[in-house]
Amino acid sequence: MAETSPKTQPEKAMFRRGNKILKDIPLKIVLPSIQNKSLLPDDEISLDGIEWRKLKLHPRFARYFQASALDEKVPKLGEVAFIRQENLDEANSYNPVKDRPVEIETGKWLLYGKSNFPFTVIGAKEETAKALKRAFDLLCFPEEVAQYEKELNPKKAREERFFETDEEEEKQRRLDYEKYQQTILLIIARHNLRFKEVDDLVNAYKTPLVKILKEKAYASSPWKTASGEEKEALLGDFKDEAIESFEIQCALNLRALFEGDKIDLTVAAPLIKQHGADTLHFYLGQLKAGALDQPRMVPEEDQDVFDNFRNLAANGLAIAGAEIPVKDALETLDPKEMWAMAYDLRPPEFFDKKQAIQFLMGVPDIKERAAKKIDMNRLFQLAKLPEKLSEKEFALFVKAFEYVYEVFSQIFTAIIGADFNLQTFKSNHAKIENWWVENRFCCPFCKAAVQGQYSKDLCPRLPVHIGCNCYISNFPISQAETENEDEGKDGDKKKSKEPGDPESEKA
Ligand SMILES: [Zn+2]
Repeated sequence: MAETSPKTQPEKAMFRRGNKILKDIPLKIVLPSIQNKSLLPDDEISLDGIEWRKLKLHPRFARYFQASALDEKVPKLGEVAFIRQENLDEANSYNPVKDRPVEIETGKWLLYGKSNFPFTVIGAKEETAKALKRAFDLLCFPEEVAQYEKELNPKKAREERFFETDEEEEKQRRLDYEKYQQTILLIIARHNLRFKEVDDLVNAYKTPLVKILKEKAYASSPWKTASGEEKEALLGDFKDEAIESFEIQCALNLRALFEGDKIDLTVAAPLIKQHGADTLHFYLGQLKAGALDQPRMVPEEDQDVFDNFRNLAANGLAIAGAEIPVKDALETLDPKEMWAMAYDLRPPEFFDKKQAIQFLMGVPDIKERAAKKIDMNRLFQLAKLPEKLSEKEFALFVKAFEYVYEVFSQIFTAIIGADFNLQTFKSNHAKIENWWVENRFCCPFCKAAVQGQYSKDLCPRLPVHIGCNCYISNFPISQAETENEDEGKDGDKKKSKEPGDPESEKA
């Protein structure tokens, strides 16, 4: 979308209030000025002094006055809040573990309400909200949990963990992560929980998504003659293309969130319980990469993948080595290699795999020959999920599972990110003059909403939305880095590197 408008963006604008005009105002201070109310909805903005537009009607800035539905592609979520000097005491006294879930409406619980990015869980009873919060606490703040338990009951406090080596600690952290991830996924799935912050994102983009999908289907000639199954596949491609055009991207699997939005999540719970979340995640990833009847040879250097496949085999989700039919195992070889397996029988030259396999399957001791040639120890083939799920039920399970998995990942990342940003604020507030927002790895939405420098007393609360990777810094990191990268060339080059920048199409 943004790629279609390569024109460069003026960095400065002028503002008019009544007959007073302010010139040469850098665009990047517009948002902070709206937030601190030094710019008002009826103030007018112009880039050239000829065409003026009221801020409240401006396609890029209107949303910050909460004027709704001006541009359906612009979501209302993610309005940026700030932490100020006066919040410092509150920030200092905040302890994520002591912070209790608060029921704000029946079944709606606010978790980490005083953090930079609170979560609202929907559809939970008190004990569910508490169990969920407890699992997130243990996952994200283990030291604080231990500390708090010690305060509550010094005698019963758990022994402090001690690690001989970094590897040992790393391994324990990984095990903890898997354990609490599993707990959290099960709580979300079993109780079919939703989160307002996830719903907001999905809802903001649902209307534009449906609109784009309809346009794409209308403009697509294969669509007109496609079967139901082909339509499903086409729709998937359309979705991916549409999602790519959205402003919010980041490390976010929006498609999983869209597809699981209205699905009953409880269908995922029994399989999560039986196989474990990470095992299922790996299994489904491999399934996407290839069909059930394709054996894979895992190379020696891929120890991680090898361990994962071994785990699948132990879980009944893959077959390994000699269990794999020879015919399938031969598929992993090329015709030349297959010819070499039977050179003593003087086979004809093999032109393709099919011909080679056909010949070899007629060789009586082919099993022994294959075992000599193929490292059976590293050969795996995915199995069907042993549960009796119809194709339709399986498709629903996949959507529910991927939704729950994505929601968990996003909430985990946001809790950690919110805490990191709050800690940065607390520990640097006294000694700095300015804040910088780093969002090189975040999305066009954030680049328009928060970017660059802020005064000491106007520290953006980050993350801005789920999936947001922005972070505050007490020194301008990327500025220094981009200046180095762009040595010898002026800003134009820098702009052309950011085709996703919405500024070039919006202002
Ligand atoms: Zn961001």
